[in-house]
Amino acid sequence: MSLRGVLLDLDGTLFDHRSAADAGVRAWLPSIGLPATDEAVARWTALEEPHLAAWRAGTVSYPEQRRRRLREFLGTDGSDAELDAVFAGYLGHYEAAWRAFDDAADALRMIAAAGLRTAVLTNGSAVQQNRKLARTGLSGLAGPVFTVDGLGVAKPHPDAFRRACRSWGLAPGEVLSVGDNHALDVVAARAAGLHAAHLDRPGLGPLDEPCRLSSLRELSSCPVWP
Ligand SMILES: [Mg+2]
Repeated sequence: MSLRGVLLDLDGTLFDHRSAADAGVRAWLPSIGLPATDEAVARWTALEEPHLAAWRAGTVSYPEQRRRRLREFLGTDGSDAELDAVFAGYLGHYEAAWRAFDDAADALRMIAAAGLRTAVLTNGSAVQQNRKLARTGLSGLAGPVFTVDGLGVAKPHPDAFRRACRSWGLAPGEVLSVGDNHALDVVAARAAGLHAAHLDRPGLGPLDEPCRLSSLRELSSCPVWP
């Protein structure tokens, strides 16, 4: 079965979420009267994933996971409206720092030039992820965007990949998954029958991964590439 599509992760793969989140929180903290220390930034960062995981598991709404993160971070409570207003301050700074990785647009054009389709599979929310693609100029290049909201299941569940492929009209064996998270984007994709490549920008491994890329520009070095 030959390759027909490349299914890309968004955060950490096409979109530089970590840099934007870091810049966002450092600008935001002084605006709410808190010093932007490394410790405070690290604490805010560490609280991101546990609360997003609760939303992905379907136990809380998307706005509610933000309020819970904020309550835990500040150690104080407030009405939903008050917490939403404080979180909006963070979002403003975060969004002001949004940018795609330098290799993202080139890679999407290279994939298309090879005769392959592109799509995005992300554990983020549909509204925010589509906004990221639009704001960074990638919407027209990225193809369909598959999210937890639409699929009803998140990576690393293999059904996230199977359902995305079905919606896309491709068989798992015709698709290459590419992402920065080895467990979510590579191991889980292979469990669903896809090919996979690990985008290891920082070079942290795992070093025995057979398809390891330091940049999206290296995609054509994948053994499955046409
Ligand atoms: Mg990622």
